[in-house]
Amino acid sequence: MKVLIVGGGGREHTLAWKLAQSPRVKRVLVAPGNAGTRQVAENVPIAATDIEGLANWAEEQRIDLTVVGPEAPLTAGLVDAFTARGLKAFGPTREAAAIEGSKVFSKNLMQKYNIPTAAYAVFTEPDKAKDYVRQQELPVVLKADGLAAGKGVVIAQNQDEAMKAVEDILEAGVFGAAGNRLVVEEFLQGEEVTVLAFCDGEHVLPLASSQDHKRIFDGDEGPNTGGMGAYSPVPALTSALAAEVEKTILKPTVQAMAAEGHPFSGILYAGLMLTADGPKVLEFNARFGDPEAQAVIPRLCTDLVGVIEAALQGKLDKVQLSWRPEAALTVVLASAGYPGPYETGGPISGLEEAAKLQGIYVYHAGTAVAGGKVVTAGGRVLAVTALGADLGVAQQRAYQAVEQIKFEGCHFRRDIGWRALSR
Ligand code: AMP
Repeated sequence: MKVLIVGGGGREHTLAWKLAQSPRVKRVLVAPGNAGTRQVAENVPIAATDIEGLANWAEEQRIDLTVVGPEAPLTAGLVDAFTARGLKAFGPTREAAAIEGSKVFSKNLMQKYNIPTAAYAVFTEPDKAKDYVRQQELPVVLKADGLAAGKGVVIAQNQDEAMKAVEDILEAGVFGAAGNRLVVEEFLQGEEVTVLAFCDGEHVLPLASSQDHKRIFDGDEGPNTGGMGAYSPVPALTSALAAEVEKTILKPTVQAMAAEGHPFSGILYAGLMLTADGPKVLEFNARFGDPEAQAVIPRLCTDLVGVIEAALQGKLDKVQLSWRPEAALTVVLASAGYPGPYETGGPISGLEEAAKLQGIYVYHAGTAVAGGKVVTAGGRVLAVTALGADLGVAQQRAYQAVEQIKFEGCHFRRDIGWRALSR
């Protein structure tokens, strides 16, 4: 079969790499892809958000299955458009993707169906928001309703910061229409963990746990990024807690979406806080995380195509996933300046040397080919994943591989996995 992957980051390279291993897949195509996806698939020069262009092309090329990486095409209705043309696409519809696209939608859903999450209130008027915030304990969490590329969340340590966040979001409109509504939320304490789950509208099939590292600098300092590294599994999520997450969060959420008339098919990403009162939802996303996918997918033994087909047929209850016992750890290499402005076009060396090392996978994110050479083309440039007998070994291997890779201004965190390793 012919499989199309929509997107061009490290997550999509990982998906292309995994899908290309399926004995049932003849061709993998990635739109638009990057310099890494070219090694395992064919790149198609169509933007991930050009839904009409992608649907026309997929119809013409008789693509058997489309897998969507990023959130923007999902919330813009890619799956709806493909399905209307009789094309198979794995991911939620536009309405179901609202679980990520609108924090107000997801918080209201959780409240209505008693899914554990932080207490909250929703505001459109700055004065009312400020009155409410003044009565809250500190720190307090303020979130823009819509998609803000991971930057729409402020954890205010004092009232000045909280007031400024209200003004930025509701008055100055720094997030545009995404900030028309503001969610003010209780601050939760505990360890964060991500649980991804395949969903078919009715059943859930959780993947191995992972943990992201959102801040740019070691020790979780500095501004938030798209994610600077990840590891899997997360020891803090014991099997008892994982069962609790499935029972109190994942299953009820998929049932709630069906009851609301928006059955959720695709990958449900639950960002959780393991609090003293049990696991609670910080956020839902409607797709694989990046870089969580780069740490979780290399551990998956099961053929991904079979699982996705079962999801599309509503038969996930018939599938069991099998996992490699090794731990995986992923280090993201970023351009100097990221997550602020950065330069691109610098040559990258050492990619082949790194990939030759035992248990190492080098996934490309912001890379391109120029003059026959691989060059930087984005903020997050590469994700280097290592498998190891335990997390310590995986970490050591990952950093050995990272040392092989050079490009000007390369920045990476040196402490990926620290929470689990310091337990
Ligand atoms: P979100 O985009 O909603 O996942 O928020 C981004 C990050 O902000 C999360 O990964 C958490 O580290 C933090 N965060 C969000 N909501 C809360 C909360 N209610 N309590 C504590 N931290 C939070």
